[in-house]
Amino acid sequence: MPEVVNLKCLCGTVKGKINVVTGSFFHVHCLCCDCQSFTSHLNNKEKILDEHGGSELLQTYPAFMEITEGQDKIACVQLRNKGLYRWHTTCCNMPLANTMSSSKVPFVGVSVKLMQFDNEQEKMEILGPVTMKAFGKYSIGEMPKDAHPKFPISYMPKILGFMLKGMFKKKNNPSHFFNGNKPITKVNVLS
Ligand SMILES: [Zn+2]
Ligand SMILES: [Zn+2]
Repeated sequence: MPEVVNLKCLCGTVKGKINVVTGSFFHVHCLCCDCQSFTSHLNNKEKILDEHGGSELLQTYPAFMEITEGQDKIACVQLRNKGLYRWHTTCCNMPLANTMSSSKVPFVGVSVKLMQFDNEQEKMEILGPVTMKAFGKYSIGEMPKDAHPKFPISYMPKILGFMLKGMFKKKNNPSHFFNGNKPITKVNVLS
């Protein structure tokens, strides 16, 4: 049974919905320096990162995410010429999601901070525990004990299976971040 969870930015201007579908998502923390740089760029570190510098993400298919309000308050940056598109709000500088630079890839990493849960118990019931903490070597302070210093190889087959299923079922579409092959806004390359 998919669970539909409301999405809302900090100030409430950008709203949406996400379907949390069993077997079609990963609940992760990313501690990498790029995710941290992104929050520095947004000047919003305290509100986004946990005490270790981690970003909490729900990685799923673009087709499961919908933006219902505030589409004109969405911007996109790329930290360098290659790499992820990092989507954020311009109203309150909240990360929305990461996508690949191609609309063909059935992947979106949605900021869990946007997800509206009534309480921790409801969050746990819907998302379950965090199943991977990656790039722990970039942690602020001591690396969390349950983090992997880089990316756990044991995760690769799961990611591959997820991607293949997404491509087969064409879950890259519809995406609220692309019009056909083109991103919905100009992508600002930071360096
Ligand atoms: Zn906002
Ligand atoms: Zn990261």
